[in-house]
Amino acid sequence: MKPEGWQAQRRIESDYDRAIRRLLQRSWQIIGIDPDMMNPWELIRRIERLANTGSFEHFSQAIAKKMVTQTFFDTARTWRQAAKGGSKGRLIFEALRNEMQGPIGNTVYALIDRNAGIIRSMPFDLAAQATRYIQAETLKGRRHEQIAQELLAKFPKMTASKAAVIARTEAAKSHTALIQARADRLGLSWYVWRTSQDGRVRSSHKHMEGVLCRFDTPPAPELLAGEKNVGAYNAGEIYNCRCYPEPLIDIMDISWPRKVHYGGKIVRMSKEQFRKVA
Ligand SMILES: [Zn+2]
Repeated sequence: MKPEGWQAQRRIESDYDRAIRRLLQRSWQIIGIDPDMMNPWELIRRIERLANTGSFEHFSQAIAKKMVTQTFFDTARTWRQAAKGGSKGRLIFEALRNEMQGPIGNTVYALIDRNAGIIRSMPFDLAAQATRYIQAETLKGRRHEQIAQELLAKFPKMTASKAAVIARTEAAKSHTALIQARADRLGLSWYVWRTSQDGRVRSSHKHMEGVLCRFDTPPAPELLAGEKNVGAYNAGEIYNCRCYPEPLIDIMDISWPRKVHYGGKIVRMSKEQFRKVA
């Protein structure tokens, strides 16, 4: 049986976005970035100091853990739906049991570490961005007080836009990683590339909708669409992408003939042709 949907729940991304923004906002208050600050370099020093505090590390870890755990349960539920009544049902149910002890557990811990690291690096990114601004404005002969005031005014927007990109990109990457890890364990190599099917899907990904791909030989969607190549990756694995993989559990679950990413091209195959290459 085909599950209702393999797409990630938007709520996981928006919770993650909000949690990151809140941590950063609270942190600005803690380190004393206040409107009275007159020296922009002091601002930079405080931001960098913040990133090295134990509590910032602790909260980065906690926020990352929450997002990955939500994704872990969300994707497990979809796998269980997929297992119901399907030919590989029992196999999938067995695999979902005690999975934290095996490779899935390792994937979960790696995803938490990766995300915690990204959140921890945010203050340094913001500091670097602010440093460039200070240098450019100082060269123009602007006063330090003025630059500091402007930076303080810019911080909320800078933080929010970074948080939004991280939440969208990393929630989707974690989602794909957890689908792929379970597929690997079940010996399922293929998936159908799915887009969110709305106006915001980039043109190179529109071409991928419904295409069968292999997890271990991802396509280079931009190259396939005649655009500037940005490398090969699976659905959901590039910045701001909301695509997701729909694992091919049974060849009978999908309609044929179908587009298949094979030999670096997208070719149309019948079920029989696909059977030969799969
Ligand atoms: Zn996409």
